[in-house]
Order: sequence, then structure tokens, then C-alpha cells
Amino acid sequence: MKIINPYEHSITIDEELCVGCVICTLACPAKAIRVKDEKAKLIKSGLCIDCGECLRVCPQNAVKAMTSRESEMQGFTVLAALPSPVLYSQFGEMYSPNDILLALKKIGFDYVYDVAVSVEEVFIALNEYLNRKKNVRPLISNFCPAVARLIIKNYPDLIEHIVQIEVPRELSARAIRKKIAEEQNLEFDDIGVFHITPCAAKMISITNPVGSERSNLDGAIAIRDIYLSLINALKEDGDDEILQRSSGVGISWAKGSASKLGLPNRRTLSINGIKDVVKVLDDVESGKLRDIDYIECSICPGGCVGGPLVIQNKHIAARRVETLIEQYGSKSRLNTEQILKRFEMDFLLTKNLWEAQAPDPLDTDLSRALEMMNKIEEILEILPGKQCGACGAPTCHSLAEDIVKGEAKLNDCVFIRNKELENALKRNN
Ligand code: SF4
Ligand code: SF4
Repeated sequence: MKIINPYEHSITIDEELCVGCVICTLACPAKAIRVKDEKAKLIKSGLCIDCGECLRVCPQNAVKAMTSRESEMQGFTVLAALPSPVLYSQFGEMYSPNDILLALKKIGFDYVYDVAVSVEEVFIALNEYLNRKKNVRPLISNFCPAVARLIIKNYPDLIEHIVQIEVPRELSARAIRKKIAEEQNLEFDDIGVFHITPCAAKMISITNPVGSERSNLDGAIAIRDIYLSLINALKEDGDDEILQRSSGVGISWAKGSASKLGLPNRRTLSINGIKDVVKVLDDVESGKLRDIDYIECSICPGGCVGGPLVIQNKHIAARRVETLIEQYGSKSRLNTEQILKRFEMDFLLTKNLWEAQAPDPLDTDLSRALEMMNKIEEILEILPGKQCGACGAPTCHSLAEDIVKGEAKLNDCVFIRNKELENALKRNN
């Protein structure tokens, strides 16, 4: 069985901590995990979509997020932090978004950029983009890296539905890097730009982006990794510089519903959680949702506030986002004309680099592949069909496929093994 290099993906599994309970195997929507010798392993690099579900469900804390470590921030002359709007929802009512942006400066970032502003910029451009792309409906958001991977792997026909405007974190990174380079007369490589993220998928969208050549970011730091430092910094006195420019429109992005405020005159849907995302993509694929203009999809339940690397309960975080929307208003204060001018000049568009990623075939030789498919059906007749996961594969079909590929044995199935033992005992008696 090919075990992939863990650094190809946003998660890795600590074998010391893993007890082989198969909870992650059963939860993985991509069937990318197997348990072998009581240890979970990520297999087949083409399968994992970086959804973080395994990270969320592992009771042993054995699944680790591959986000940036402190050492990766060293060596830059200047550091910039780009917090996801989710960060604003992680603290009590006593701390405003501006207090939180200032706290990021207090813990060592030289520059901080309010990514919620770029969210508003994207939605102004998106309204115009919807006019340009009248013949494709519905358009689908591109900002959740796990949804993007799900589409290129499982829904290649929907690639043309994906919006090709840069995602907010990338626009923010481009803007802050340019500003710092000009202000400090620095080369781009001297500037370290880090996203403060609620999920590990953002890291893989930086190291291995889908839909663009390279990221403008240098890494991603988990919200939960800097939470304590931020709490301490929030308690300190500091200056009263204004860093927050966003309204409630940009902040509402944290709970996956920015389209409601950002595209008020369009027919939009906000979908979150892997099961609902899959259902909706199935519907789009079968042509059912052509009356919808835009679908905002997040793989995490509740939107990005439900990311696996946050601290706050997603319901409380969503409530905090609602309060912030009331406080900062449901209309963007950005200059629409200026943004549309940049959009007209294609400054906000991604390069068209979306490519379908077909799953690995059973065999490159067609007749051999057909033979293997028949063999899988034969093995499925023998397996009990209980889908229990006790063999270490998520379904009986996955075990049958692994057996045909020579990566598992029939008696990995505990029911078959028990039968074999019973028969052996009978023979010996
Ligand atoms: S959930 Fe997966 S990684 Fe965590 S202990 Fe169980 S088998 Fe191991
Ligand atoms: S990140 Fe998602 S797709 Fe990848 S192994 Fe974990 S549960 Fe499966």
C-alpha cells in the first residue's frame, strides 16, 4: 500500500498517539485513510481533499494540522498577519475587531491587514462577474480549498462554474506585500506574509494552490496556536491606531453567509458541511439549480467558524458574528467605482488554471482494469456488507478494492476471520 508523504497534505497522523479506533477512517469523505496494524495511515495522495474531518473527529488528538511553525516565520525582515474574519468571533464582546488586529501587532507582527476588506472587494467584483458570466449558472465560490479540491476530483464538469476571482486572503496578501515593499524599500522575499487560519486546508492552498500558479502567502498559522498570546496581548494597553476598515459584509464571511449581504439582489445559497456540499454539487451537476446565481460553499459545518483550528464553539462564534454585523453595518464602505475599475483591468481575476484530477485508475491497462472490477464484485459477494470499518477500510467496497490491488487480504475482514477460526476449531475437534 502506498503511504503518502504527509507533507503533501494539510494533515498528518501521529502513530504514537493513534490507537487504531477507525473513527477517522469512517469519517473521511474521500476514503483516504486505512488502519493497518492498529495505526491509521493516509493513503493515495490523490484522494485526500484536505477537508479536516479526520482532525475534527480523532478522539486521541493523533491527527495533526500541517500549519506554519514559529521557526518558519524567522528569516524575514518584516512580518505581516492576515487574519481570517473568523478571528473576530473568537473573543468576548469586550474586544472589537480593531482591538484584535492591534493585538496581532503586539505579539510581533509589523503589519496587519483586515482581510474582511478584501472580502467586500471580492463581492463588489463578483456582482459584475455574474453579469459577465450570464450563461453559466449557478456560479460556485472558490474560497474554500477543500471544496475546490472536491470539485476538481469528483465534479470535473463543474469547473467552469467556479468563480475565477482571487480569494480574499490572496488579494490581501498581494496588497500588503506591495505596500510594505514600497514603504520599506524591501524585496518581496524579505516580507513574510502569514494567514491566521481557522482550518488546515488554507495551508495546502498556499503550498499547493488550486487555480493559480503560486500563492502570495508564505504560510498559515492556526487560530488556536496563537490564541493565548492574543488573549494576553488584548489585556495590555496599547495605541489606538485604526486598522479595521471592514463593515459587517466582510465580517459575515466568517459564517459562510457573505453572499446574503454582499449580493443582496441575487439569488444565492449558502451551503456548509461536507454532506450538504456534496448534495448541492450533485444537484448542480444534474442541472437542478440553474435558477440560482451563486452558491457559497464551505466544507466546515457552520462555515469557517466551524473550522477545526478554532477555539470558540461555532454557534457562539456565529452569534458573535451576528452582533458584529449589527454593529458595523450591512453595507460596505469601499469605493465601488475604484474596485470595478481594477476588475475591468483584470487585476482581480485568477489565471485559468483549474484542471480536473481524475482518480487513479485500477490499472492503466483497460482489460486488466475490467478484470479487477469483476474481481471486486466477486469479493463483495463474499464480504458481509456490514460496512463496519473493523478491517481498517471505510467500506466493504474499499476493502475489496484494496484486496484486488494486493494491499489487503480477505481475512482482514473480522467476520471472515472468525469464520475461518470457527472452521479450524471444528476441524480440530
Ligand atoms: S481517529 Fe484515526 S488517527 Fe485518531 S486514534 Fe482513531 S484511528 Fe487513530
Ligand atoms: S483531511 Fe479529509 S479527505 Fe483528507 S484524510 Fe482527513 S478526512 Fe480524509
